[in-house]
Amino acid sequence: MRCKEASHKLQLYLDNRLTIQQIRTLEAHLASCNACMEELTIFETVVNDLETFKVVAEPDDLNVKIMRRVAIAASQRNTSPSRFSLWHPSLLEILVAAALATIATIGTILQQSSIRSMLPIANGHDGLSLAYFNMLHALMNVDSTALILALWIAGTLLGVCITLIFAGSEMRTQWFKAMMERLPVR
Ligand SMILES: [Zn+2]
Repeated sequence: MRCKEASHKLQLYLDNRLTIQQIRTLEAHLASCNACMEELTIFETVVNDLETFKVVAEPDDLNVKIMRRVAIAASQRNTSPSRFSLWHPSLLEILVAAALATIATIGTILQQSSIRSMLPIANGHDGLSLAYFNMLHALMNVDSTALILALWIAGTLLGVCITLIFAGSEMRTQWFKAMMERLPVR
């Protein structure tokens, strides 16, 4: 008998599933082969360990505990602030800052004709600035409350545009989504 065959039969031998003839052949080999004898010893140790191994019974409320933990984890995920709400105040700050800066810039330009004349598009000689001054003239004729309101709207729109131009595309998408969510649905 070869070692390979003997090794293959060791498990059957321990399980008492060999014929008497097979047992005699195997035992004859084991008596003369230390390697296979050693393997048999290891096998026997494993079998003995398995027999003495006590199955640990799971607690009766294991399922309940697992489901509770899953529920807690899920609710924590739901109540935890989303990426957008974490990021939202900073956008608001950016928008307010941009709007205020734009309004301040417009105010400065309106007050100082020397700065206005330096601008390439509003130096007083092109159609755009003529339309601009016509618009300003029309605005001057309405009451000051409407003028301030118009400046606020223009400044805010400019601020939003500047912010969206310089913000990343991801921020633009988030901003657009936020605006759509805040639109009053009737
Ligand atoms: Zn052998």
